[in-house]
Amino acid sequence: MDFNKMKKNILMCQDCKEKFGFTPVPIFHGNERSKIMQISQAPSNNVHKTKKPFNDPTGAKLKYQWYQITEDIFYNEDNFYITALSHSFPGKNAKGGDNPPPLSCARKWLTKELDSVDNQLFIIIGSRAAKFLFPDEDFADLVFQNRVINNKPAIVLPHPSPLNRKWLKDHPLFGKKGYQK
Ligand code: SF4
Repeated sequence: MDFNKMKKNILMCQDCKEKFGFTPVPIFHGNERSKIMQISQAPSNNVHKTKKPFNDPTGAKLKYQWYQITEDIFYNEDNFYITALSHSFPGKNAKGGDNPPPLSCARKWLTKELDSVDNQLFIIIGSRAAKFLFPDEDFADLVFQNRVINNKPAIVLPHPSPLNRKWLKDHPLFGKKGYQK
């Protein structure tokens, strides 16, 4: 599919309106020459409200602590194509957490994005995105060993969400210099 047509269709998509119970706000960021395609889980409520990806505490940790880059670098579309299993915030569950991303979105859009962007590197964020792309692999193994998607290198990171403290505590090697097995 032509890139601009795909972008327009994603931004207009309302497939999940009934399921979510509110008007979805698809988030789109990047161009067909972005160097890095970053694939995560789903936008947060704050991203839904501001329409700016990773504009929340999770994003702050990812941008400033893990990548150690500025907003200008992160939001430069020539650098990062920012996508997710779900382009839209999927709403809250009864416990106050976010609903899981609808995989129908990934099947419909992410598969097209993978073929439409001429990126050089993939960064996969979180176990849900990793499971979608590498269904038979152990998540911890993926984090500590690079993979390949479409003949391009793929780095898998744990989710930087403050709710993911346990995984980070259980895997103290993550983030240490030379942490790859
Ligand atoms: S989550 Fe994906 S499939 Fe659902 S409305 Fe948003 S863009 Fe469409």
